[in-house]
Amino acid sequence: MTCQRAQSLQIIHVRKDDHSFSLDEKALESILLAEPVRDLNVMVLSVAGAFRKGKSFLLDFLLRFMYKQKTGSTVNWMGRDDKPLTGFSWRGGSEPDTNGIQMWTEVFIVPTSYGTKVYNLTNNIQEDDLQHLQLFTEYGRLALDEMSLKPFQTLLFLVRDWSFPYEFPYGLEGGNHFLEKRLQVKAHQHEELQLVRKHIRACFNKIHCFVLPHPGLKVATNPTFDGKLKDIEGEFKVHLKNLVELLLSPQNMVEKEVGGSKLSCRNLLEYFKAYIKIFQGDDLPHPRSILEATAEANNRSAITLAKEYYHNAMEQMCGGDKPYMAPSKLRERHFVYRETAVEKFGSMKKMGGSRMSERYQQQLEADMDEMLESYLKFNRSKNFFSIVRTPAAMLLVIIIMQLVSGFLGLLGLGFLTVFFNFIIGITILSLMTWMYIKYTGQSPLMGEIIDAVSDWILGLFSRLIIGRYMNMHQATMMAGLATRRN
Ligand code: GDP
Ligand code: MG
Repeated sequence: MTCQRAQSLQIIHVRKDDHSFSLDEKALESILLAEPVRDLNVMVLSVAGAFRKGKSFLLDFLLRFMYKQKTGSTVNWMGRDDKPLTGFSWRGGSEPDTNGIQMWTEVFIVPTSYGTKVYNLTNNIQEDDLQHLQLFTEYGRLALDEMSLKPFQTLLFLVRDWSFPYEFPYGLEGGNHFLEKRLQVKAHQHEELQLVRKHIRACFNKIHCFVLPHPGLKVATNPTFDGKLKDIEGEFKVHLKNLVELLLSPQNMVEKEVGGSKLSCRNLLEYFKAYIKIFQGDDLPHPRSILEATAEANNRSAITLAKEYYHNAMEQMCGGDKPYMAPSKLRERHFVYRETAVEKFGSMKKMGGSRMSERYQQQLEADMDEMLESYLKFNRSKNFFSIVRTPAAMLLVIIIMQLVSGFLGLLGLGFLTVFFNFIIGITILSLMTWMYIKYTGQSPLMGEIIDAVSDWILGLFSRLIIGRYMNMHQATMMAGLATRRN
């Protein structure tokens, strides 16, 4: 990097026609994979915000400081009064000069490194500004899996052209007081306003605010202004100096961390690649109402996918072409599929944080429970055979018991018939109860129990009879085989 002249390089491009983003991997690799820096821990100082608000202008002062620091001292780093400001391209006028993301090609090696994000604003911190920040942090969170950690480190709100120094004086202290007031959560605030504030606080380890005075009319309105210090208001320069030193002095440096671990230049490249994928998705939301709408859409599509899974699994088990199955078995499988569906929902990436996804999860669970009811009903309707099964099983029991007790009477063991008559009595009682339940639809659980017991009896009977027959048949076959072998 040092042999070439350092310059700003565009690493993320924005296509104007469809607002899509693309990453220039080659350009980024040429910066981050350069031999001397690729494995060093990295700090990213980024300045973000709307266009024409003096971001590039500020970055050029930061560069001045870094280049002076390379010489070993930062005394008088602001330099001569009549030297034009160079570095990141900037200019007056109302059209944007730079877009996408620009990166300086020279990576500065310093004893310790740092990581601050500067959110560049003008005049005030508006509700819109907070919402855009929230959207930005949500994208950041999507790219990271460790949702529990604060994904970002230090955030500095930089408010340019501050016009209320009599309320909150210029600089960091005044700015912090102002910010404190702006980010206060009050009970009477609309829920949306409260949420934005809580969200922003939750995303950053430290949040500061710096308020800068107006730089003077030459800077703001003169088309021939080229960044000479002598054309900039004295008060602005004092605070700009403080700001740059605050951002870049080694004692204020924090190494860039993602999810709690430090990043090297090489890792940073990977993160860029991961982030750009999110921005290249087809469903990138457009500003405003933005977050809420996107988060809801995310959750809804996650619900749809989870329900689709549940529906398919249930259809395979008890769909239209499947035979009747015991309701208890159906319920049991429902709980297994329901749990898997909830797990699937949970593992899908969604915006809006855990509170929103909990709400949607409850809805998903309620929907699946409702679906279960219709599966049960449908299953019952297939149940003509089971209607015959239960009385058939009972009649079978009654007949067998009658036969056994008659047989015992013949053998002169009439006193034992009491026991069999008792079973017959119970069976008749159950049959009557069952008929009452089927007729009135009352206490379906009791009905299911009787059905289950009847199923069991029929199963036992068929195993005994059919199983015996099969065994005999098998034995004959074996005997046949054995004779043939001899
Ligand atoms: P960017 O689009 O945010 O990168 O803005 P630039 O750095 O290109 O600056 C846009 C214009 O704003 C230039 O004409 C600068 O001279 C001017 N400018 C720079 N800093 C300030 C400031 O603090 N206040 C005002 N009002 N104008 C500024
Ligand atoms: Mg710019």
